[in-house]
Amino acid sequence: MSNERKKFFRRLAKEHYTILIPDMCPIQIDILSRVLAKDGMNLVVVTPLDRVAKDEGLASIHNDACYPALITCGAFIEALKSGKYDLHHTCVLMTQTGGGCRASNYISLYRKAFEKEFPTVPVLSLNFSGLEKDYSLPINAKRAISLYTAVLYGDFLMNLVNQARPYYGDEKTQEALDDCLKNLDKQLGHLSFLQVKKNYRFFLNRFRSLEPPKERKPRVAIVGEIFVKYSPYANNHLKDFLVRQGTEVVEPSLNEFLLYCLYNAINDHRLYGSNKGTIALYRFAYRKALKLTREANAMVKGTRFYPFEDFEEIPHNAEEVISTGVKMGEGWLIPGEMVTFSKHGVKNIVVVQPFGCLPNHIVGKGMIRPVKERYPEENIVPLDFDASSTQVNQENRLKLMLANLEK
Ligand code: SF4
Repeated sequence: MSNERKKFFRRLAKEHYTILIPDMCPIQIDILSRVLAKDGMNLVVVTPLDRVAKDEGLASIHNDACYPALITCGAFIEALKSGKYDLHHTCVLMTQTGGGCRASNYISLYRKAFEKEFPTVPVLSLNFSGLEKDYSLPINAKRAISLYTAVLYGDFLMNLVNQARPYYGDEKTQEALDDCLKNLDKQLGHLSFLQVKKNYRFFLNRFRSLEPPKERKPRVAIVGEIFVKYSPYANNHLKDFLVRQGTEVVEPSLNEFLLYCLYNAINDHRLYGSNKGTIALYRFAYRKALKLTREANAMVKGTRFYPFEDFEEIPHNAEEVISTGVKMGEGWLIPGEMVTFSKHGVKNIVVVQPFGCLPNHIVGKGMIRPVKERYPEENIVPLDFDASSTQVNQENRLKLMLANLEK
């Protein structure tokens, strides 16, 4: 670690900085912030007022920039202007994949937007690619495992919540989730596999204590660009709308995106000979992550809940319609998920993307036709989001899709 970075992070801990992070996947981010709180960091998840964040984003970032950059920047500005935070002891944290897409540059857009009004607020990066050397959260092996386990816990709970909400309503589902999070809080420091398994079992038992539904509702999957797929304020509360319309929402895990990034690093080596120095590490991390993912899935199999699909099926299925060498944006992951859902009986799919997101228009919207040619019974609708798209238009499109709902 460079001296400047050491000094900066020592100051951050000593002076009790507040670290703002965007609310991308509500459950996963909540658990990640609890993990970092155990390390003495004060993370605050920013949940903005929808319109305010969009307007702030439009005022600070060119509207040609990606919608996720615009809305997250707007959410940070809304929070910084709220007067709730000491601007000399607050910083913002954003993830970076280090891939070729524009997301790797969101951080420089924030810095430019903060330059005049919030010059004292540093922008930090959370990445595993060695980017932003002096301003990235230090990640050692223990922290990487803790953060990854937090993602697995979050995915596990998100999956149970999605399968409970349509049948028991918000209140009962939230109670079950709160009990799980309360129990988890005491265990977050323990990374032994036995403890992790015990926690999964506790989650399952808590959700199984709810009466089994008499009949399952039609399942609707959401795939697409990672931010608009998960973030309720970026997608105009898409999940709430679908549940209100009498469906059960199916979301791919956040972990699937992480495995996709590792898979791509290994694939790059196979296709182009790149990552020579780090390929052994990528292979090790991929194998380990896949094993942990399968162990979590194995706990769910055989219960009344659906587990996530096995990750290795996804690139294999993607190859039916696209090469796994396509990795800009969400690349082959979106068509791979569409084909995998089709094969596993999820007959309705919403493909979400930011308006003007070139890669995902190709690998998302653009792949609907080849997927439908192979799986004609699939009911698939693309949905675009940007700062000016109206909820009414989106809901009308969804209602058309829901009129043809496949059980
Ligand atoms: S995937 Fe789309 S929205 Fe995301 S950074 Fe790339 S172009 Fe922008």
